[in-house]
Amino acid sequence: MKKAVLNRGKETKYLNHYPLVEENDLYDYDHLKEGELFQIVDHRNKYVGTAYVGFQHKGIGWIISYDAQVNIDASFFETLFLQAKAEREYFYNIDGTNAFRLFNAEGDGIGGLTIDNYNGHLLIQWYSKGIYKFRYLILQAMRNVFQFTSIYEKMRFSNHPYEGGFVEGREPEFPIVIEENFTFYNINLDDGMMTGLFLDQKEVRKKLRDQFVDGRDVLNLFSYTGAFSVVSAKRANSTTSVDLANRSRELTEENFGVNGIDPQTQYIYVMDTFDYFKYAKRHHISYDTIVIDPPSFARNKKKTFSVLKDYDKLISNALDIIRPDGNLLLCTNHSEFTKKQFKKVIQATLAQHNRAYEIVEVMGLPKDFKTHPHYKPSKYLKAIFIQLK
Ligand code: SAH
Repeated sequence: MKKAVLNRGKETKYLNHYPLVEENDLYDYDHLKEGELFQIVDHRNKYVGTAYVGFQHKGIGWIISYDAQVNIDASFFETLFLQAKAEREYFYNIDGTNAFRLFNAEGDGIGGLTIDNYNGHLLIQWYSKGIYKFRYLILQAMRNVFQFTSIYEKMRFSNHPYEGGFVEGREPEFPIVIEENFTFYNINLDDGMMTGLFLDQKEVRKKLRDQFVDGRDVLNLFSYTGAFSVVSAKRANSTTSVDLANRSRELTEENFGVNGIDPQTQYIYVMDTFDYFKYAKRHHISYDTIVIDPPSFARNKKKTFSVLKDYDKLISNALDIIRPDGNLLLCTNHSEFTKKQFKKVIQATLAQHNRAYEIVEVMGLPKDFKTHPHYKPSKYLKAIFIQLK
């Protein structure tokens, strides 16, 4: 097997099970091709772990075993899948939810691979050409472990156009309707990068519905298919969804529809968030609860938006249209925007506006998005509920 030799002193990090192989930590390595297996050894040639080559936006591969004798065959993947499945027993058995993540990359033992379950329709996401080389073995293992109606896939290789589609089983007609905490959502597994619902926000949606929307006017910015609005609508006085994408209107209306809510009773704007702030201010519209869950980066006309640089502007503008005693739900899924930095931006912006507040809840990923204890970026989601005073 090919080898990569660690720089002296770097072995501790990897002996502590840091899973991502970083090029800077390597002293020397054989020529490595996507999907090849290689051994990581220390400068004395002592075995540390076995990795596969997979070039993502960071790292050159992922360690997948600490057993020098390991055989990477279908039964290797089967063992990991069985373990992942056993850990999700709860999600298989609860009422009112039939969509959740079955396998979460490095958190479950293989960086670069995720599998989601949308009511029996499984979605595999391949994050490098390297992991895709194991497709045959992984599909074989999936058939032996998971029950499913169909399997779909998405290739999310860096610098590569999106590809994906149906793999096997019985093809459903999209959209399919899934249920999450007794709310219904339309899902399409065969339409671009996104599916209609971000499963990682399930607990945040539930918290919002249970504690922050009763009788209130709720504004949902960057609303996409309206999930935060849909989960709120039955208890809220009104919901307003704002998204730049033309398609968001129809998708949001349909999501209201599958929950028996007449979309005509809710507000939906296809608009840039910052334009909507201006519009609301001009018309003296205000809200009790404002949800801000933006993409990490976005480009609109000549403007670019980055959560790292611009989150404060979102908060500042929201403060202009929120009622006294209002609630903010502030989210980011950018792995390089740490919880600490995020809280600092929130604190500084509220201080600048002389607003007293309390952080009432800080949430992260749900249990099905199992994270890796020694790999911080895997805890990418931050959702903070603020009570203004
Ligand atoms: N909050 C959503 C997910 C957001 S996905 C949810 O809970 O499901 C990001 C969304 O932001 C996309 O739908 C995109 O169209 C929208 N978007 C990007 N830039 C925007 C802008 N400047 N104003 C409004 N929406 C924007």
